[in-house]
Amino acid sequence: MKEFEQKVLNDGIVINDDILKVDNFLNHQIDVKLIRNLGEDIKDFFKDVKVDKVLTIEASGIAIAFAVCEAYGGIPMVFAKKSKSATVGDDVYSTEIKSFTRNTVSKVTVCNKYLNKGEKVLIVDDFLAEGNAAMGLLDLCKQAGAEVVGYATAVEKEFQGGRAKIEATGIRVYSGARIKGFKDNKPVF
Ligand code: 5GP
Repeated sequence: MKEFEQKVLNDGIVINDDILKVDNFLNHQIDVKLIRNLGEDIKDFFKDVKVDKVLTIEASGIAIAFAVCEAYGGIPMVFAKKSKSATVGDDVYSTEIKSFTRNTVSKVTVCNKYLNKGEKVLIVDDFLAEGNAAMGLLDLCKQAGAEVVGYATAVEKEFQGGRAKIEATGIRVYSGARIKGFKDNKPVF
């Protein structure tokens, strides 16, 4: 079993039929060595493509995306913002994303100077469930004319259908741990 799957198995807490809590190493406290290794693994998986930039969404994707950028020797990372703050101007690409865990829809933005036409972008996130966050990030790249060269998630819940949506667009998917389902309050890979 991969190091990352072992961690998900040991420390992940099944909250209900749909949600896994990984606050111990990813969503609250961060296991830096583990996430650094995950970043290396992601780079290795996409070794045949050129990556100029990594795009994620705040907040929990940031640590993983940072680790991926480090693995590439320090390429830039951009995170889409969920709330419009006073520091975000009007020159933005925006899309709407339904939150899997909160069941709300929020407007997500990226300043247009940070996503550019022709840039090769790797999208990274902490979880892949129904694929709404992924499709929203893809939409932002499409608006910018950037080329999405891959999608990587730390944890994939295969039974929620996100992978199929991404792969249907021709984009390759990496997951650190691919969960088939939950059994006896434990993830099954
Ligand atoms: P999707 O958009 O693919 O339906 O859901 C992905 C997003 O929802 C991720 O960005 C993640 O923040 C959140 N998410 C989905 N499933 C889970 C889960 O089981 N646990 C946690 N902690 N977050 C999740």
